Amino acid sequence: MGRWVFDMSETKPSKKGAAALLGPLNAPPADGAVSASESVLRPPTFGDFTGQAKTVERLRVMVGAARARGEALNHVLLSGPPGLGKTTLAFILGHEMGRKVRVTSGPVIEKAGDLAGLLTNLAEGDILFIDEIHRLAKTVEEYLYSAMEDFRIDILIDQGPNARSVRLTIPKFTLVGATTRTGLLTAPLRSRFTLQSRLDYYSREDLVKIVRRSGKLLKVDLAEDGAQVLATRARGTPRIVNNLLHFVRDYAQQRATGKVTGPVAEAALELLEIDKAGLDEMDKRILRVMAHNHRGGPVGVNTIAVAVGEEEHTLEEVHEPFLIQEGYLARTPQGRVLTAKGWQAAGLPPPTGVVSAQSELL
Ligand code: ADP
Repeated sequence: MGRWVFDMSETKPSKKGAAALLGPLNAPPADGAVSASESVLRPPTFGDFTGQAKTVERLRVMVGAARARGEALNHVLLSGPPGLGKTTLAFILGHEMGRKVRVTSGPVIEKAGDLAGLLTNLAEGDILFIDEIHRLAKTVEEYLYSAMEDFRIDILIDQGPNARSVRLTIPKFTLVGATTRTGLLTAPLRSRFTLQSRLDYYSREDLVKIVRRSGKLLKVDLAEDGAQVLATRARGTPRIVNNLLHFVRDYAQQRATGKVTGPVAEAALELLEIDKAGLDEMDKRILRVMAHNHRGGPVGVNTIAVAVGEEEHTLEEVHEPFLIQEGYLARTPQGRVLTAKGWQAAGLPPPTGVVSAQSELL
């Protein structure tokens, strides 16, 4: 029910071939994972970007200094769950630096030759945005080291006695890497980023600002209480609050007067089976499986994935971070365990001795 709204796990470009390696210049990837309305809603400058104060301040400092020196920006690694603004920030960096942004994704770059093609097409100061950089092939990753550090790559051509190495010089570019899982990045790759910044879930106040701005851009008649309802149930994520806004706008048009009021927003979200805390159907299924089938755990994430019929990496990247941050479950060396709040959300009273948050386990 309503999965199209929340499934943020779809991988970015999957088609192969030169055209699929790159998205268009200064535009979001044309791969279907990003809708047209998403690009309309994408804030173009730091001034339009709400929240993530620390990351934004760090980036502003870097942009100001690089511009003053007339140099390319240093490499940046942005991490955090999907939909928090990593791609948006890469485009903002391009805009603020007055440079082009090329977009690609880790799994799409299969061979060193693909990477060489991408890099040699860049101009000085351009930004190469690699989404899902933790999914880059090992062989490709090693070529990226010298590209990032020395702006050259040595490519081996031919095999056997004819094998020879060709050195390609690359314009001084900026790599902006994005990952949902910093832990999966190798240490040599991670250490080549001058700045590593983690994006956090957004506060309700910030999400209210974001959804108000989106409402204006989409010409939605959005009442203050409607904005509050959407912000409360968006799992701290701008992409989700925007998706909810789209659905609630349709609902208001079809089942009400067109105005998105609090009660209209609540009725629409009920139809999507999103509860008051913002938990969706999959979140609730995870909690119920843990409570009913595993007595609250510890249980391995692979076991949960099979039971709920979801990919393991989607659980780890999309659902788990939010459930942990909100104190529904905790991670232990033995596996995941339900907290007291998790038991309650699963509809059962917690057994005695159950922890109430991750912090109690640390
Ligand atoms: P990520 O790359 O982290 O998955 P995106 O940058 O694609 O996330 O953001 C998803 C959508 O959320 C964007 O299209 C944009 O409209 C919106 N968005 C993200 N961050 C913000 C923000 N800070 N302010 C306003 N809108 C935002």
